[in-house]
Amino acid sequence: MKLLVAEDDKTSRLILSSVCTKWGYDVVSVEDGQAAWELLQTDDAPQLIVIDWEMPRLSGIEFCQRVSEKFKDNPPYIILLTSRTETQDIVEGLKKGANDYIAKPFNNDELRVRIAVGRRMVELQTTLNNTLEKLTLLASNDALTGLLNRRAILEALTKEIRRVERQEQVLCIGMCDIDHFKQVNDTYGHLAGDEVLIEVTKRMQDALRVNDLLGRYGGEEFLVITPVDNIKNATIVYQRICDMVSAKPVIIDKFSISVTISCGVTSYVHHEGDLDITKLIARADEALYQAKHAGRNQVILKLEARS
Ligand code: GH3
Ligand code: MG
Ligand code: MG
Ligand code: MG
Repeated sequence: MKLLVAEDDKTSRLILSSVCTKWGYDVVSVEDGQAAWELLQTDDAPQLIVIDWEMPRLSGIEFCQRVSEKFKDNPPYIILLTSRTETQDIVEGLKKGANDYIAKPFNNDELRVRIAVGRRMVELQTTLNNTLEKLTLLASNDALTGLLNRRAILEALTKEIRRVERQEQVLCIGMCDIDHFKQVNDTYGHLAGDEVLIEVTKRMQDALRVNDLLGRYGGEEFLVITPVDNIKNATIVYQRICDMVSAKPVIIDKFSISVTISCGVTSYVHHEGDLDITKLIARADEALYQAKHAGRNQVILKLEARS
């Protein structure tokens, strides 16, 4: 594990670096708090730090304070090294954000175990962060296709509406549903159906632009969010999605499966203080229903009726 040693006294810095290296740490040493602070801003910065209190440019205690202000979510573990052993100094050090302190001159055995405690804390924190990252991904992404799930795409829709309002763009949404998908499952089996879903997802993604969003709304139904400058462009985007999906059959094992989708598209119209995404989705659903009834494999645009 990387360990940052910040100490202005050269002899003390060399001793610290040498013992910590002997204990198996990957030591980086600097001679003041400012250098330590700059190092902390880099990628892969050390998460375990032994820092002297009294130093030029930026003291250990100022360093602790800055860290606790800037790295609230994932702070490094800091051991403050100090010749101040008055209770009030120790209290101040810990209050300012140090996790532990060691009195100078330090005892090697004590330093070793205190750093080891810090190491365990950093390792625990890393495991916790990784688990949290995985959980966040699981909570917002669909397991089969990796797309945003229903909850996440609806959340994104609310955010996108606010964003396009600020930027005076038009926001279109499309409900896109695979045609006769039940037949695919019935003919080729559920596993082949899953493969088709994954392939359709890829093709849809290929048809989208960087700012478009795609989520799995339900079984074989997708919600697409497309900010456009002009409502006329919306049909072009969704027609491209349809064309990409149907361009060539999906090959699963020895089967060649033709797939098409139908899209019901609508646009968000701003009403003062009214952000009702349910109505928006319902209108896209109606358009999708019309596309199905008109023969599938097509786009129907349905704008809000003017009152
Ligand atoms: P339409 O053109 O009217 O949309 O017809 P459809 O057959 O696509 O629609 P229907 O709602 O009758 O059937 C949808 C099918 O999608 C039924 C369901 O089993 C299947 N499905 C939903 N989710 C999955 C999935 O994750 N994997 C597979 N293989 N099938 C799924
Ligand atoms: Mg000093
Ligand atoms: Mg369907
Ligand atoms: Mg459906």
